[in-house]
Amino acid sequence: MRAAVLHGREDVRLERVPIPEPGPGEVVLRARAALTCGTDVKVFRRGYHAKMIVPPALFGHEAAGEIAALGEGVSGFAIGDRVVAANSAPCDECGYCRRGRPALCDDLLFWNGAYAEYVRLPARVVARNLIHVDPGLEFREAAMVEPLACVVKGVDDCGILPGMDVAVIGVGPIGLMFVALAHARGARVVAAGRRPERLERARGMGAAALLSLADAADPAARLRYSSPGGHGFDVVVEAVGHAVTAEAAVGAARKGGTVNLFAGPPAGTRISVDVAILHYDEITLTSSFHHTPETVREAHDLIARGVLKPRDLLHGEATLEELPTVLREMAAGDRPLKTAILP
Ligand SMILES: [Zn+2]
Ligand SMILES: [Zn+2]
Repeated sequence: MRAAVLHGREDVRLERVPIPEPGPGEVVLRARAALTCGTDVKVFRRGYHAKMIVPPALFGHEAAGEIAALGEGVSGFAIGDRVVAANSAPCDECGYCRRGRPALCDDLLFWNGAYAEYVRLPARVVARNLIHVDPGLEFREAAMVEPLACVVKGVDDCGILPGMDVAVIGVGPIGLMFVALAHARGARVVAAGRRPERLERARGMGAAALLSLADAADPAARLRYSSPGGHGFDVVVEAVGHAVTAEAAVGAARKGGTVNLFAGPPAGTRISVDVAILHYDEITLTSSFHHTPETVREAHDLIARGVLKPRDLLHGEATLEELPTVLREMAAGDRPLKTAILP
């Protein structure tokens, strides 16, 4: 079969590799759609990801398709079933799993290889994070489950409730998903970003107001100024991953507010915060990593119900052969949204 293999920095090649065979408990998927993701671009640039992928390795982690082969002992699935898998599964046994925090699992098991004709899913992923796709959904829509599951967890983690004022900094696919879900929960959402054409997209996804931070000398002040009465926001989500926007997020929270530093920044990213403000205003500083089996299911449900419309976040389609070009364009900032790779 044809599959994309990551060899190192900016080095992804399309190669012929054997079609995988399922071991006990495993499933082989005929991939019908795989989505590009900001994480892939990060990995493409760096050449590896300590937690997720060490080259040479099959690449890609957001895929939906049909079951092509079943390993011994798999139950609840049949050949031909339309399914989507999350890109990892927790162990269910470590202290974090037992305390209900599976995203922090000490033994989180990742798979890679979505950019291929066939994908082998580990037994643990089949057991915990493989779900049937709603018949009304296309594969490229279903493949959005994984990133959305992370955002569902993010929204849960910062307790967004009806009537709250929420600011989302960053209007890439993840920021836009936050806008849509916060709006669906009844919050009034201000979307903040740099590029006007991307900001405009947030309006269609439920943002009540758009805020350009392009030439802001003091982005926190500009954010606060856009909040009701200038008091700041109940919830501020940082979906960029830069120190400047992270500091602005902390500075834009109102008394009793919550800041979710959601985006994964490079190691060593530092910010400075006024601890007195955190204390006297009881600001909650939090961060959300990854997803849980529960939010994976909720994400599928939100897509099936049309609360999140994947088409709003998709920018065309491409073949496996075109993937290296697509990744280069993404790395250069020319493809801000997701692309459906159709193997
Ligand atoms: Zn992803
Ligand atoms: Zn665990």
